[in-house]
Amino acid sequence: ADDLVRAVDRIMRHADSARRLLVRANADNADDSARARRMGAEGVGLCRTEHMFLGDRRRLVERLILADNDAEQQEALDGLLSPQRGDFAEAFAAMDGLPVTVRLLDPPLHEFLPDFTELSVRVALAESRGEDPEEDRRLLQAVSRLHEQNPMMGLRGVRLGLVVPGLFTMQVRAIAQAAAQLLSEGRRPRPEVMIPLVGTVQELEIIREEATRVLSEVAEEYGVELDFPVGTMIELPRAALTAGQIAESAEFFSFGTNDLTQTVWGFSRDDVEASFFSAYLEKGVFGVSPFESLDVEGVGRLIDIAVEEGRAARPGIKLGVCGEHGGDPDSVHFFHRAGLDYVSCSPFRVPVARLEAGRAAVRG
Ligand code: PEP
Ligand code: MG
Repeated sequence: ADDLVRAVDRIMRHADSARRLLVRANADNADDSARARRMGAEGVGLCRTEHMFLGDRRRLVERLILADNDAEQQEALDGLLSPQRGDFAEAFAAMDGLPVTVRLLDPPLHEFLPDFTELSVRVALAESRGEDPEEDRRLLQAVSRLHEQNPMMGLRGVRLGLVVPGLFTMQVRAIAQAAAQLLSEGRRPRPEVMIPLVGTVQELEIIREEATRVLSEVAEEYGVELDFPVGTMIELPRAALTAGQIAESAEFFSFGTNDLTQTVWGFSRDDVEASFFSAYLEKGVFGVSPFESLDVEGVGRLIDIAVEEGRAARPGIKLGVCGEHGGDPDSVHFFHRAGLDYVSCSPFRVPVARLEAGRAAVRG
């Protein structure tokens, strides 16, 4: 058994010395970050902050949704700031010295809001008992106001950041404060701020400006120097096609191949299991689902365009991928050929990604 371990270690070392792609992991909490590090990840390429708002935090989010004046809204945001600061401090400490890409909120609202039917029943039941479920009724109103037919194409990502004033600023402040705190303790936090679902450079510019202002405020407050990259996900065809413009405002791109596959094919990523996919696989329309292995001709073509345009506009721009494809062997070979700087995948797939990145480099 010891021989085997030594052989595997040797192979991994070979792969690591050959590969040009860096390998990061997708991790949303300190446990995942620690696991990622053990698996050899060279940073966190995607921390999905919406996952930090599930569970007990839902109440805090509901308060934000329910706020019907500026003061209430500010209070709700203040309530979220300190838990977020704690989350980020943990994540940066777990990856001390390595980059952590924090993606600002990208909640599919339907997964986030209380369930409409459940809430309606609760209100109806309370009313039938002669009670006045005021809080629930307001929540129900808010939920119906925010209801969308196509939530995945709706108020997500940067759109939410632009519509809910102060939301992204609160997150950037929490990131900056966590980093400032750790810096003053002699640690080496390396946050990167990532804006999701950008379709046009204007969206990015508005958020970026706010982020820059918050950074300098917090830096002054703590008496430290804060300068970390702000970048964007490229996960809409329009973003890929206008990558040259977007790169003017982004220090890095991370390709979100899950949404990119969904929008390029027009396939709903949440429904593919249930619907016609098995027939497509059976009839050989494609051999593997494009959600599993990168569609080189469609999605890959857009990535190539974005890489070329992005590098032309900003030669030093950092390029990575953080969709599920980041840990898929064939897709890793594509990302190597496309000239990306890193792939990011789930912690368990990190060793495979390291190995395949090594093979891709040796094979050329
Ligand atoms: C993606 O779209 O590929 C991505 C990484 O973001 P998410 O899966 O959270 O939408
Ligand atoms: Mg996405």
